[in-house]
Amino acid sequence: MQQDWGARLVPVVCEQCDWRYLLPAGSPAQLCPNCFQQELAGLDPAGELEPYPYPPELVLPFTLDEDKLAQAVVQFARNIPFAPKDLNPALLKQRLRRVYVPAWLVDAQVTAQFQAEVGFDYQAVSHREKYAGSSWQTQEVQETRIRWEPRVGRLQRPYQNVPAPALEVESRLQRRLGEFDQARAVAYEPVLLGQTFVHLPNRQPADAWSEALPGFQARAAEECRLAAEAQHIRDFRWSAAFAGQNWAQWLRPVYSTFYLDDEGRPRPVLVHGQSGRIDGERRASRRRAQTAAMWIGGFGVGLFVLAVLLGLAAYSLSSSLLALLAVLMVVLAFVLVAGALIPPLVVWRFNRRQAQRPD
Ligand SMILES: [Zn+2]
Repeated sequence: MQQDWGARLVPVVCEQCDWRYLLPAGSPAQLCPNCFQQELAGLDPAGELEPYPYPPELVLPFTLDEDKLAQAVVQFARNIPFAPKDLNPALLKQRLRRVYVPAWLVDAQVTAQFQAEVGFDYQAVSHREKYAGSSWQTQEVQETRIRWEPRVGRLQRPYQNVPAPALEVESRLQRRLGEFDQARAVAYEPVLLGQTFVHLPNRQPADAWSEALPGFQARAAEECRLAAEAQHIRDFRWSAAFAGQNWAQWLRPVYSTFYLDDEGRPRPVLVHGQSGRIDGERRASRRRAQTAAMWIGGFGVGLFVLAVLLGLAAYSLSSSLLALLAVLMVVLAFVLVAGALIPPLVVWRFNRRQAQRPD
């Protein structure tokens, strides 16, 4: 395996989340870049890697520049009320790790019978009546319409590099970070690995096959549309047989980092290695909100005590001006004490909204 990859790599596993990676041999002990809760432990290469011993065919390189990466991290830390102390851009940046996440690419020879409707654009002229001033005017209107024609046929074609998920979390990953552009991938070279974690697939090709089928069908439909020189295609149906499937991997670039919440638990944050899109669970800090509440409330209580003293002074001096001031201070003190509830409430609402996110 190591010769194929052109680099000396060792398989490692996180016993907390069961994610498996390849790392350059001799790397120091590393925290798992998925959960950041456990150090990675060595795996027996012969037993554990059996289904996926091959190097990737394509790699999408990390192309996000330093500035954009820093911007993404700053953006993430912003917009969180009472963000945890540990959530600061410098720390997030310092903890960044590079991870290649895999997906399958499958080639197959397809023999199929299909039927579909193909659509051709044409210009139609119609007339519209318009009442302007005191008379009717006829306006000529050109519009594009589609003429649909049925097609049936057979096709026998090889298709290459149709994507399929190699990870259980693939659809979640795409929802969080968006798509990865296969067209920008380059042929695998060991130099592309660097100090990057290579995540090993956790879905077998047999299991991922059904999710490759829509990709084959979309390619076939597009080819039929082109062959018919049509602008549109709809209701493409086929009965297809597949042969000679060949599976390969392609690796996509993701940065991963984390911050610690109030309880000291790591909260992972991911960044797309090309677009810079960032995603992670945003947690506001209850502890910081409570501190703010104590300051505001404490100030309110202090003001109340002052107001009482001022009230007594106003009484003994029979000063209506001082009495008025004391009343105003009491009102302000009550506003502050009530306002002390706001920070914890803001944090509670923010964290609840985050917890209700679909992911
Ligand atoms: Zn882990």
